[in-house]
Amino acid sequence: MTTEEYLDILDRRYGKGPLGIVRRMVDSVRIRLFNRKLIGRYPWLIPLGSEGKRYFYGWTSLDMMPSGWRRAFGDAMVEEIHQDLLRCHFEKDYRIIEIKEKYGGLRWCDGGTPLESRVHDIIGKYEDISFDTCIICGDRAELVSKGYILPYCIFCAIGEIRRQSLYFKGMGKSVEPLDIFYDRYARIEHLSTDTQVPDDGEKKE
Ligand SMILES: [Zn+2]
Repeated sequence: MTTEEYLDILDRRYGKGPLGIVRRMVDSVRIRLFNRKLIGRYPWLIPLGSEGKRYFYGWTSLDMMPSGWRRAFGDAMVEEIHQDLLRCHFEKDYRIIEIKEKYGGLRWCDGGTPLESRVHDIIGKYEDISFDTCIICGDRAELVSKGYILPYCIFCAIGEIRRQSLYFKGMGKSVEPLDIFYDRYARIEHLSTDTQVPDDGEKKE
């Protein structure tokens, strides 16, 4: 199973009938198999506090990553970090404290790394990329929401607006979706055209 398929399963809704129950059970097994393989390769993705306890691979630390970003560069980022941890013999000791979105960008907090490690450079590189990556689907972001800042591609931004205008209509207000659109989003000024493509591992200045 690919990361893409795994994330699709996490988003899935199940019916209440027997078919829904069976599908949920099958997916629950697939989730555990996927995560067991992931932890097998990257032991440091085990959730904090799960070691030595009854841990059945229902989730990993990587599940904290917003799914658009995980779709776009999650696998590449984890592999790059892993290679550096191997180099420093720190792959058994490295732990993730928290992965989240803050001010429209990725925040990846860990429990520290050895001095010679380049892990924090790698994290910085992908945190930069996240600002240009749709947080919902992982495509290149063209818009950023005002107020609560999040990066969106055009399609996901329109999806959000559709939901909002339906919500306003439900409250009996008449709204022009286009008005909300300009009210809510600003264009992202891309500094370069190739920010989406990870380079050879050197941190961009
Ligand atoms: Zn999108």
